[in-house]
Amino acid sequence: MYDSSSPMRQKRARGLIYLCLPLLLLSGLFSGCEGRDRENSAAIPAEGSVSTIHFWEATDLHYLDKSLHDGGTAFQSFVASGDGKQLPYIDEILNAFVHEAEIKKPDFIILSGDLTNNGERASHKSLARKLARIEEKGSSVYVIPGNHDLFNPWARAFKGDRQMVTDRITDKDFTDIYGRFGYDEALSRDPHSLSYAVRAAPGLWLLMIDSNQYNHNQRLGHPQTDGRVLSSTLAWIDSCLQQAAEENAAVLTVMHHNVLDHSDLNIPGFKVNNSGQVMKKLREHRLNLVLSGHIHMQDIRRNLANGGSEFPDRTAVYDIATSALAVNPHQYGAMTFDPLTGRTTYQSTPVNVDGWAASEGLTDSRLLSFKKYAEQSFIDASYKKAYESLAGSEFSSQNKQEMAEAMARLNARYFAGTAGSGIDDLLKLPGFKLWSTVKDGFLPRYIRSMTQPKPLSNTSLEITLNREQP
Ligand code: FE
Ligand code: MN
Repeated sequence: MYDSSSPMRQKRARGLIYLCLPLLLLSGLFSGCEGRDRENSAAIPAEGSVSTIHFWEATDLHYLDKSLHDGGTAFQSFVASGDGKQLPYIDEILNAFVHEAEIKKPDFIILSGDLTNNGERASHKSLARKLARIEEKGSSVYVIPGNHDLFNPWARAFKGDRQMVTDRITDKDFTDIYGRFGYDEALSRDPHSLSYAVRAAPGLWLLMIDSNQYNHNQRLGHPQTDGRVLSSTLAWIDSCLQQAAEENAAVLTVMHHNVLDHSDLNIPGFKVNNSGQVMKKLREHRLNLVLSGHIHMQDIRRNLANGGSEFPDRTAVYDIATSALAVNPHQYGAMTFDPLTGRTTYQSTPVNVDGWAASEGLTDSRLLSFKKYAEQSFIDASYKKAYESLAGSEFSSQNKQEMAEAMARLNARYFAGTAGSGIDDLLKLPGFKLWSTVKDGFLPRYIRSMTQPKPLSNTSLEITLNREQP
């Protein structure tokens, strides 16, 4: 969020306790919003047993197909001028993620938008082939688009020292390419957006909301960053959730843009423009957990009704912004859901690229020690931006280096979601005192916002997911 972007080796021992699935959960399996889908039968438990559901959420993959760059100078300068995405190794990160899914076999995986770098057709098609590998091993995948995925005028290939316009996709292409990753399995699809609802597991629905505005991209010449939920989509949610209520299902909401502020800088375009309306709708249906992305950093916030309550657990709406898979520390949210109690957990989990590289017998030392390499390259990129921002200042070059160092190391923790506490070691760095002497500009404000103590963890959460009540 510092910059905007331009051109177990063992199957998880799940379900230790097998319990009887209440009849009310089963009863809903035989009726449908629009009479569609009954093919998700793998999700229906055998003979009245039900176990804890394991699933993942990843976001902002920003995948760029290998065929679209040659590692040349045009690509290098695109990466260097970007927002810290690890594009040179994005194919390997995705392969490691697929490998991890094949081994750990979550019940399903949610991808909440910005699947591609800039909406290139080749990236979408190649990503869909990787996702097909995950589904072949038994994990379902459910996707929605982000603001970079459709009608993107910035879709580019990189050859030598040149950027070249490459084929981008439309909304219709998106539902064709990702049909088997949500759209063909939907219980209901919103006729006015790429939103849909799907029964991901017994007693658990996903409300996948398309919050993007891509119709003006062509005219604007760039992908529109800000989002909103159409009022027709809010009305569709009402009709669709009636069935969830009849099934007494818990509903998890997913969208690319945030519904709550994740920073006190109030940067426009992060939260959906009509977040007030959306929050009202969420509360109306007792939807108390939103999974989002878009800001590329890891942050969990909650909003209490009327600004506070005697019973925060009953009124809180949580928004988990998972950090970008493309950005250090390349993590996803590993989640569980207990169909009987609604207990839901979230834990940030970095993709084990090092382990994957070793198991593949690769020799690239950067991949074999990727955790270290990726962190250092993120720190280096932040350092460069901070240092450049101080170019016109009066500070000595040693002071500028100290300030850039402090900012870069803090930024790495901030993106990982671990800057909310335990940063005393960083606050002791000489660069921090120097930053506090700078009054104007974005960076000093950004640094102050990053160092705000935060009682709620950004990397783990345990809540009870509400059920719709008929
Ligand atoms: Fe993104
Ligand atoms: Mn985005």
